[in-house]
This record gives sequence, structure tokens and C-alpha cells, in this order.
Amino acid sequence: MSLAQALPISSAGLGQVRNDWTRAEVRALFALPFCELMFEAQRIHRLHFDPTEVQISTLLSIKTGGCAEDCAYCPQSAQYDTGVKAEKLMAVEKVLAEARAAKASGASRFCMGAAWRSPKERDLDTVCAMVKGVKALGMETCVTLGMLTPDQAMRLKQSGLDYYNHNLDTSPEFYGSIITTRCYQDRLDTLERVRAAGINVCCGGIVGMGEGLEGRVGMIATLASLSVHPESVPINMLVQVEGTPLANQPKLDPLDFVRTIAVARICMPASVVRLSAGREDMSEGTQALCFLAGANSIFYGPKLLTTPNPGRDRDTALLVRLGMRAMER
Ligand code: SF4
Repeated sequence: MSLAQALPISSAGLGQVRNDWTRAEVRALFALPFCELMFEAQRIHRLHFDPTEVQISTLLSIKTGGCAEDCAYCPQSAQYDTGVKAEKLMAVEKVLAEARAAKASGASRFCMGAAWRSPKERDLDTVCAMVKGVKALGMETCVTLGMLTPDQAMRLKQSGLDYYNHNLDTSPEFYGSIITTRCYQDRLDTLERVRAAGINVCCGGIVGMGEGLEGRVGMIATLASLSVHPESVPINMLVQVEGTPLANQPKLDPLDFVRTIAVARICMPASVVRLSAGREDMSEGTQALCFLAGANSIFYGPKLLTTPNPGRDRDTALLVRLGMRAMER
């Protein structure tokens, strides 16, 4: 079945940015034969991006562990015994040294993550100093700090913050099975505050948590129906961490992961789609399919917050084998 036959709407507008995606449309994309879906995703990818370019970011955990939230996938929650020790917020100079090293290895964006429900005022001062310092190195800046007030979002913007990461994680219906300490609307409220402050939005989710196809449909439909699409859409594959409630979650078929990337690419054609957590366990063939499906960003470096990520040498070798290169800022 071709795309035109499968989609309950005219496919003429595919590739244009639209914010009125229905679940029926997103479901129809997931139901396409794999080769049709990949063909459309690649065609649409080329309308907006050079398919040989990958944006490279580095992620540093600036405040690890001891988080009060209960996200079922997260080894940093204080509610689970995962062996991750709670640490204090890093010193500004130490963070800047890491940013210089990331820049030297080819990263154009430096992301800083803190395991907080929301930042305390004095901690936000320190994070603002980090943002200023990283910006002065000529890198793009991104932070993920939990829920923000409108004033906190504005202060981050004034420090020079380019992106704020705040994931919707999954569909509205499945969200309560994964997190009980905050609700979906809390996430949407923070995203609105970030937008209102003029900061770019980085927002995606995690697949393989038991959400099923309908959960993936709901997640992509929600992201693609935001009034402005997130500029960056990280799609994570669950990393099953010992001690978390999802430790024994069966692994998702890698082709279902690739499909999710392709559907995200088609529904948010002008956004950068990031192949995020879970790459350590992914074959290079699967990663290559993800790039073909329209993923055009990765995290570089051996660790993603607290979970393993392929080392820089492995990633560089893979990009060379695929004839791909780092996107210039
Ligand atoms: S995902 Fe973030 S908010 Fe949730 S437990 Fe982990 S660090 Fe806390």
C-alpha cells in the first residue's frame, strides 16, 4: 500500500510544517509498509536538511542523582536503588573545562542536565553562570533542569540559553503509568513558559517502555500538534537499568524504533530529530537506518547522564563509514 492509499488525508502537503496532525494520520504512517515509510521520511528529510549532515551535541550531568521525582525509567530517582549516588551541583569552572573539551572533539552544542524536579533560585544563579560561560566559548547551550516558572525561563534566556530540554516522555494516556509525581499538563506548562521566554524547545520522548503502538502514536501526535514544533526532537530507546521499575521491560523491536524516527521526521519535517539514549545497545545497522529515516542529531561521548553511550571513536568511525559529517552551526 502506498502512502497516498494509506493516509486518510491528501498527502500533497506532506513535507510542509503542519500543527494539526490527528492520531488517525499518525497511526496511518506507522501502518505503512516499512519501505514506503522510509522512502517518504527520506524524501521529506531532503526538503529541509542535507541528509549527510549530523548535528553533534554533548551532554554533561551537572547535578547527578537524588531526584525527588519517580520517573520509572530513571536511575537518578531517589526512590529506586540503582547505585547512582547523589552529588552536588558541579562548580562552574569544572563545567567550562568539560565544555572546552567537548568543543575540541567537534561538539557544536553543549547540554547540561540536572536531576531536579525544578531548580532552586540559588542553583539557578550558578546554572546561569554556566550558560554564560559556555556561550562565550562559541557553543550553543542547552539545559534540562525540570519544571520552570516564567521568571526562571526568562533568567535563563537572559543568560544566553539557546535550548531548553523538557521531554513529554510518552503519550498523555500512558504518562501516569510512568510518572506519578507530576502530570502531563505540568510538562506542557513548562514548555509554554520556555517558548514565551524566546528559548528554543528540545522535546521528545522515550519508546520501549511498554507504551505499545498507540502510546507512540499519541506521543508523536502530541508533539506534532504543539503550536510550534520543538526545534529539536530527541527520540530515546529505553535503557533498562537495574533497580528501576522498567529494568525487566522487554526490548522493543529495533525496526519499531526506526519507524518512530521516520514518523517523527514526517510529522515534524523542519525539526532536528535526535537519536538519543539507547544507542549503546543498538547495532550500527539500526543506527544507519535511523539516519536514513531522518534522524540528524546524536549525543557524542561515552556517557549520557548516567547511562553508557558509544565512545567518540566508535561514532566517528561510523559517521566516516556512512559518509556523514558534523553539521556546522
Ligand atoms: S528523569 Fe529527571 S525528573 Fe525524572 S527522576 Fe530522572 S532526573 Fe528526576
